[in-house]
Amino acid sequence: MNGISLSAYRRVTVKIGSALLVDRKAGLRREWLKALVDDMARLVADGAEVLVVSSGAVALGRTILGLTGRTLRLEESQAAAAVGQIALSGAWAQELARHDLTSGQVLVTLGDTEERRRYLNARATISTLLKMRAVPVINENDTVATSEIRYGDNDRLAARVATMMGADLLILLSDVDGLYTAPPERDPGALFVPVVDAITPEIMAMAGDAASELSRGGMRTKLDAGRIATAAGTAMIIASGKEAGPLTAIERGARATLFRPSAAPVRAYKTWIAGQLEPAGRIGVDIGAVKALHAGKSLLPAGVTFVDGTFSRGDTVAILDPDGREAGRGLVAYDAADAVKIAGLKTGEIAGVLGYDARAAMVHRDDLVLSPPARHGHEKVEGTDVEGA
Ligand code: GLU
Repeated sequence: MNGISLSAYRRVTVKIGSALLVDRKAGLRREWLKALVDDMARLVADGAEVLVVSSGAVALGRTILGLTGRTLRLEESQAAAAVGQIALSGAWAQELARHDLTSGQVLVTLGDTEERRRYLNARATISTLLKMRAVPVINENDTVATSEIRYGDNDRLAARVATMMGADLLILLSDVDGLYTAPPERDPGALFVPVVDAITPEIMAMAGDAASELSRGGMRTKLDAGRIATAAGTAMIIASGKEAGPLTAIERGARATLFRPSAAPVRAYKTWIAGQLEPAGRIGVDIGAVKALHAGKSLLPAGVTFVDGTFSRGDTVAILDPDGREAGRGLVAYDAADAVKIAGLKTGEIAGVLGYDARAAMVHRDDLVLSPPARHGHEKVEGTDVEGA
């Protein structure tokens, strides 16, 4: 059987299930981790960026504390997570360091990906780590997450992180080697599904009943993760991590299911920015900025001529050209008060005015959608060669 080549993927999120990393009695499965990190280092050497979503904090903490063999109270498992997380991060750091890779621990709670402003903040931090060539090692902050506000499973957490970071591939490693037409433990006639083009209701039905004990954190959450990932343009692979070196195994043809990403992912996101949110403010820009936006650049404070409205960071703002027409909409990276202060300033001047080292862009190009060209179709823009102007 042909394997799935991983070399074309440039930003890869790998999620590792607890049972792979932690043995109830012996604790951390160090040899297994070593082999996985060897695999990851190969991807990095080939030029990919790798993000890790590692489960196992609670499981490892239980082993270290000798709390196995009974159900834990909430505060006990949160304490176990605290003990396990520090050991887990340490192990990742050590193994990555063998390949001269630096790692950075990132513990997130639900709001960090669901609330727009916190999402932008988490994204900026993780992309800074990647720029510094550090491998983010991510988990839910189980020690403080309360039951109402948790992801609860790292499959969906990994999908949120992967899409937030614009990863082109998410790999879910667990003891499950792929999708079957029915849960194979209950249906011996279940057939393996190697490729999924779209996660339709029929595909969802293959996971079985969400309420059952077997599917908790099982195929159901993996397909939920797949829906999040593929809708945003991230491919997903479900593969078994049981053998040492699971990424190599995927490439060599070990059983795995590939979920293809949706064909028009960016459009969906941009449609959301452009259409569904009411602008909370207005930002006027000069003609140079309009030109830069059409050339695919971010909106820098230098091109901003006025700021209007009482928006917060992460809100949608309308961007107005010198004629007062809407050139586009985007998610603003500053609160209105700060935006006013830095309007017209060069990037190098921002920190001095705000008193903190801020992001350069007023609206990042990833968070920006330009108005349809038709709106500007008959306008003449003096001295520019702006497309669509
Ligand atoms: N965050 C949990 C832990 O590290 C794992 C959750 C999961 O496996 O889905 O223990």
